Amino acid sequence: MGKLNGFLEIKREVSKQRPIEERIKDYKDITIHQKDDKSKEQASRCMDCGTPFCHWGCPVGNYIPEWNDLMFNNQWQKAYELLSATNNFPEITGRICPAPCEHSCVLSINDDAITIRENELAIIEHAFKSGYVKANPPVKRSGKKIAVVGSGPAGLAVADQLNEAGHSVIVFERDKKIGGILRYGIPDFKLEKEILDRRLSLMKKEGIEFKGKTFVGIDIPIEDLQKNFDTICLACGSRVPRDLKIQGRELKGIHFAMEFLTQSNKQVWGEKITKEALIDAKDKEVIIIGGGDTGADCVGVAKRQGAKRITQIEILEKPPECRTTNEPWPYYPSILKNSSSHEEGCERHWSVLTKKFIGKEGNIEKLQCAKVEFSKNDDKSCPVIKEIAGSEFEIKADLVILAVGFSHPEHKGLVSDLNLELTNGNVKTDENFMTSEKGIFSAGDMHRGQSLIVWAISEGRKAAHHMDKYLMGKSNLPVL
Ligand SMILES: Cc1cc2nc3c(=O)[nH]c(=O)nc-3n(C[C@H](O)[C@H](O)[C@H](O)COP(=O)(O)OP(=O)(O)OC[C@H]3O[C@@H](n4cnc5c(N)ncnc54)[C@H](O)[C@@H]3O)c2cc1C
Ligand code: SF4
Repeated sequence: MGKLNGFLEIKREVSKQRPIEERIKDYKDITIHQKDDKSKEQASRCMDCGTPFCHWGCPVGNYIPEWNDLMFNNQWQKAYELLSATNNFPEITGRICPAPCEHSCVLSINDDAITIRENELAIIEHAFKSGYVKANPPVKRSGKKIAVVGSGPAGLAVADQLNEAGHSVIVFERDKKIGGILRYGIPDFKLEKEILDRRLSLMKKEGIEFKGKTFVGIDIPIEDLQKNFDTICLACGSRVPRDLKIQGRELKGIHFAMEFLTQSNKQVWGEKITKEALIDAKDKEVIIIGGGDTGADCVGVAKRQGAKRITQIEILEKPPECRTTNEPWPYYPSILKNSSSHEEGCERHWSVLTKKFIGKEGNIEKLQCAKVEFSKNDDKSCPVIKEIAGSEFEIKADLVILAVGFSHPEHKGLVSDLNLELTNGNVKTDENFMTSEKGIFSAGDMHRGQSLIVWAISEGRKAAHHMDKYLMGKSNLPVL
């Protein structure tokens, strides 16, 4: 515990954000990151609890109290070494992890949680600035060859771990650029792509090979990988978007969130989009269907493109602002989230059912909606959603973005070619992350369904341990 009574004397203080009127004019990071002295002060609030529930709440098992203590005591290099022992990409989670750890922080029972995520970021950015983060290629190669399919956070974590163990790793990615949703989905105002490139450049120096524009199953048959590699990990994400197949769905101007976000990211890094393909919110009445985080990213992008008005609608009830007794500490609660994008200007409505898309001359013109109410089922299963009679209303719309989640990984191609067993549409594995096809492993969203970056990293690390063990009979890679 760095500072006795730190938690009594110092209040939680999070980083400030750039003024709204300034930041909506660009796609740059919206956060004004804390100076090291401020981060140290915040770290001193950590109580170094006997049983650190934050560590339990973090899917990669970060040693949070220990590195809080080290950074408070100016031992930044040791803090960095401890942080990188459990997390391959803390500069990414430190920026955009929703920080389940903070909801498990013991201090949060009756006070504000420690700023764990921001402290994590302070450590890794201090380490980069001080030159502690260096390419560290393995001293000896094992002679084993590994193929990783998919370059999102799960695939990158698998590659990083197995390269560290001395295996030769090639990451195959169908997109031109490496990074999965980190590259193509998440906007720069949350994660600037230079941050990802800085890490990829280290990974390349450490010997990992990346092959973009290589669609496994189309450009290379999976049998070729099976023949030429000792083992394979599939980390292809969960990208089949949920659709809203109601009347009028065929109208022009209705798009999936990932189409909208991918185009915007491409434009930000300078790619041209043809006029015919362009999805542009400028001067439009934009409706975002789906009240989650992906929808929030769409709000931020639409704002920056100059939308006339942005409305986000959600069928579920407005979540509570505080924990309810159904989700007691230290569990992650489903509470109302106000993202920075919401603060930039957007109307939000809950308990709204979209009944029909209405068009004019083939283009979307408005949405027909109705209010819904929820009643509990006697058998305690999911609540029943009931339309409120006479509550119908219409909203004007020039552009509709569907951000209603993802169903499962793509089945056409790899999954069906290999005839992989599935569970709830996701790729089924045994407890060692091996799929129903011997020697082929799977990790990340493809295995667990759409989730979080920190879970993708956690799964990637675990899968790497089991792949190493499969190849070598034992593994020194951590299993958590
Ligand atoms: C818009 C959006 C915003 C998000 N924001 C956050 C956030 O702020 N914080 C957070 O924690 N989580 C966030 N998430 C969730 C998070 O991004 C995902 O859980 C995470 O990226 C999953 O990682 P992954 O590696 O499993 O899959 P992905 O990131 O989806 O990567 C899979 C990769 O596999 C490639 N691929 C697929 N099939 C093939 C093939 N046959 N051959 C070659 N390559 C292939 C794909 O092109 C892709 O690059 C967000 C998700 C979305 C959609
Ligand atoms: S990775 Fe996420 S859950 Fe883990 S310590 Fe960092 S912010 Fe918390």
